[in-house]
Amino acid sequence: TEIRVCTAASCQSSGAQPVLEALTAGCEASEHPGCRVKQVGCMGLCSAGPLVAIAAKDAPLDQAQLYRDVTAADAPEILTSAKTGAPVERLHCPIDMPFFARQQRIVLENSGVVDPNSFKGYVVLGGYRAMVQALTEMTPAEVIAEVTTSALRGRGGGGYPTGLKWSTVAKMPAGQKYVICNADEGDPGAFMDRAILESDPHRVLEGMAIAAYAIGANKGFVYIRAEYPLAVERLKTAIRKAKRAGFIGHHICETEFNFDIEIRLGAGAFVCGEETALMASIEGGRGQPRPRPPYPAESGLWGCPTLINNVETYANIAPIVRDGGDWFAGIGTERSKGTKVFALAGAICNTGLIEVPMGTPLRDIIEDIGGGIPGGKAFKAVQTGGPSGGCIPEAHLDIPVDYDSLKTLGTIMGSGGMIVMDETSSMVEVARFFMEFCMSESCGKCIPCRAGTAQMHGLLDRIVKGEAGAQELALLEELCEVVQATSLCGLGQTAPNPVLSTLRYFRAEYEQRLLDQA
Ligand code: SF4
Repeated sequence: TEIRVCTAASCQSSGAQPVLEALTAGCEASEHPGCRVKQVGCMGLCSAGPLVAIAAKDAPLDQAQLYRDVTAADAPEILTSAKTGAPVERLHCPIDMPFFARQQRIVLENSGVVDPNSFKGYVVLGGYRAMVQALTEMTPAEVIAEVTTSALRGRGGGGYPTGLKWSTVAKMPAGQKYVICNADEGDPGAFMDRAILESDPHRVLEGMAIAAYAIGANKGFVYIRAEYPLAVERLKTAIRKAKRAGFIGHHICETEFNFDIEIRLGAGAFVCGEETALMASIEGGRGQPRPRPPYPAESGLWGCPTLINNVETYANIAPIVRDGGDWFAGIGTERSKGTKVFALAGAICNTGLIEVPMGTPLRDIIEDIGGGIPGGKAFKAVQTGGPSGGCIPEAHLDIPVDYDSLKTLGTIMGSGGMIVMDETSSMVEVARFFMEFCMSESCGKCIPCRAGTAQMHGLLDRIVKGEAGAQELALLEELCEVVQATSLCGLGQTAPNPVLSTLRYFRAEYEQRLLDQA
């Protein structure tokens, strides 16, 4: 029997470390040789942390007895429960509740099961088998064909077809090529990549290695923000152990394939999530975007062909190679395949990390999985896509969540952050918040974004304070168009989105605050 303690950042922040220590000490002192305490990553229901699960060795999460809000003082009862099988009713968290039952875990299949610091633990769960399969049984073209068949689209937000991106880099003349994992997650309220790296770092490394083999690269970088110290530490440990085992390095699996991975720390600039700024930062320069083309696939790091995908995209690769592109393409909607990991935050009962098939209705995510709005309050809107996205009001809650459907509502899926707002939220203030974020994160390279975000923030601030009239609202709308059309990179081009989206669905809230209406 395993007693699994979530030690990802969310549970750590709610006191998982003393729980881990108390259970470990209690287990060592007790006479129950069949029982061991294991550190695991995120089990998803962060709002109920610290979470502890009792399960058979390496059994999936849905077969576990789950305990919520555990404290160190609960350790003796949990140890007894592990020995006898009798549940501790007081701490019981039903694993068949909709939060867990409505999910389909592919990216997160090992999260909450594997010890993120254990190379062996990952291998026992089938880890690195897909990489070995790719290297020894498939040509690079066959790997790309499988990824193309899967119809996987980039999970960082763009939704670009992954197979197409890979084949573009693969077609570039042989020579130095690079693979980059974009782990510079910066959207407010988003923590998918952090949780994946804290919970199952080898899965990401395996995906990167398969990608490198497919496109002919021998060097990879993980660009991760320094504000994620636990993810960085676990990633470092994973790289060290994979190197020691010969799964990263020279002649991997006794083939001619060589692949090394290095970590590069970002200093918290949101714009460094943009691929050209990210590459400039890796090269040691200032993290500022440059015009595209040339695209990284043709001229990326140090002018060499470079493949950039985000954490979740790489985490999907091993299952695709393992179970086949057709299997993956059988999940989701016609144009959005597979599952998507979302971070639920804000005014929602079950905050945490979830993974659902593409096309799941938003209402199911908010009401069933998320458990609805706390305190008996009414739902008002959910922001998807962070500062580049928009809000979705109650009237559109039945929309299936996929790349294309969300676009019809004037928002985007983005990397997977979902911030839920209840009836007490002011949508004008929400728009101001996101504009303030964009204003302070603007790198300043181009004028429309540098000056435009500041002007738009100023106007929003005056509207919020009831100091602006209808003319200023019209000016705000005009500025949105100009900044969207003329900014150099995605940050500026999408900065007006939260304003446009809140204006589209909650225009009355703006108008109520105007001077001439007061
Ligand atoms: Fe920098 Fe903004 Fe211009 Fe992007 S749009 S290059 S963030 S100033």
